[in-house]
Amino acid sequence: MADLDLLSSLPRERLMQGPTPVQRLNRLEQVLGSRRNGISLWAKRDDLMELGGGGNKLRKLEFLIGQAKSEGCDTIIAIGGVQSNFARLAAAACARTGLGCELVLAQMVPRDNEIYQANGNVLLDRLFGARIHILTKGDDAGVFAMRRASEIARSGGKAFVATLGGSTAVGCIGYVDCAFEIATQSADMGVEFDRIVIPNGSGGMHAGLAAGMVIAGIDPSRIMAHTVLSPVDTCVPATVDKTNAVLELLSRNERVERKHLTISGTQLGGGYGIPTTGMVDAVGTLGRSEGLLLDPVYGGKAFAGLLSDVESGAIAPGSNVLFVMTGGSPGLYAYADALVSK
Ligand SMILES: *Cc1c(COP(=O)(O)O)cnc(C)c1O
Repeated sequence: MADLDLLSSLPRERLMQGPTPVQRLNRLEQVLGSRRNGISLWAKRDDLMELGGGGNKLRKLEFLIGQAKSEGCDTIIAIGGVQSNFARLAAAACARTGLGCELVLAQMVPRDNEIYQANGNVLLDRLFGARIHILTKGDDAGVFAMRRASEIARSGGKAFVATLGGSTAVGCIGYVDCAFEIATQSADMGVEFDRIVIPNGSGGMHAGLAAGMVIAGIDPSRIMAHTVLSPVDTCVPATVDKTNAVLELLSRNERVERKHLTISGTQLGGGYGIPTTGMVDAVGTLGRSEGLLLDPVYGGKAFAGLLSDVESGAIAPGSNVLFVMTGGSPGLYAYADALVSK
């Protein structure tokens, strides 16, 4: 595909083997029965990657680490919440590529029990050899990271600071590539996806996919995103800006407006990282019907939105729906108390 030439000039460090599989959710369709309204369901398995437990942040890290290395950096400082999947995968990617890694983990979620603070992603961060800074509530992660970067510079190193979720325009390019993958897989399968359902956290995956679809000539409003971090009012303009920054970085003339992005706030519940009953049900439903793992912060809420939109008719009966599975299952261990009733 000629569009791939667009990406080949950017520095990139290979961390995964694409394309990730697309699979039909046959058993889930059976379990839903007439409630599925004749809708066909597929999953794009972006949770299935060989490094560090996998997940959507590896696509971004391919380009972020490419950028860091091309700028001569020897250390990555990644910012995230305590149970950040981005931090975990940055640590794994640094181990693989021989870079130093420091993680600045902020208290973004009101959960201070032992399993949240030390198990799940945090445990893996340690196993991947990252230096971890767990901040206390109210500390500014950006300021802390910049201070660490100056200290590293004073001792002769050079740090690359990777912001929340790795969602700079460069990081988002990973999902432009994913949009091209989906376009190719859809053509090979002879199935047109009417809806592509995703979570929107820091918005980078949505922005990259939307930009990629625009470039591939597909209407980006087919993406149905469920915000899990910011309210819709701020999520929509922020994602529009990110999408346009990606198109600009790739020297494309197309631009998107608010009407091109479909974002729902119905699954946000009490806010980022706060469990909802819909999320708990969705994680259980996909686990019992397909033996597949969602995560409690992103995929669980987006999948709850998908199930609700399928049953309510908000997704047109008979549609072909693709759910992008983004990984994050280590987070399940940090939410054990919320997921299973004793
Ligand atoms: C970060 C993350 C997302 C959301 O991606 P953004 O680019 O931040 O919107 C979705 N799922 C998982 C598992 C994630 O870690």
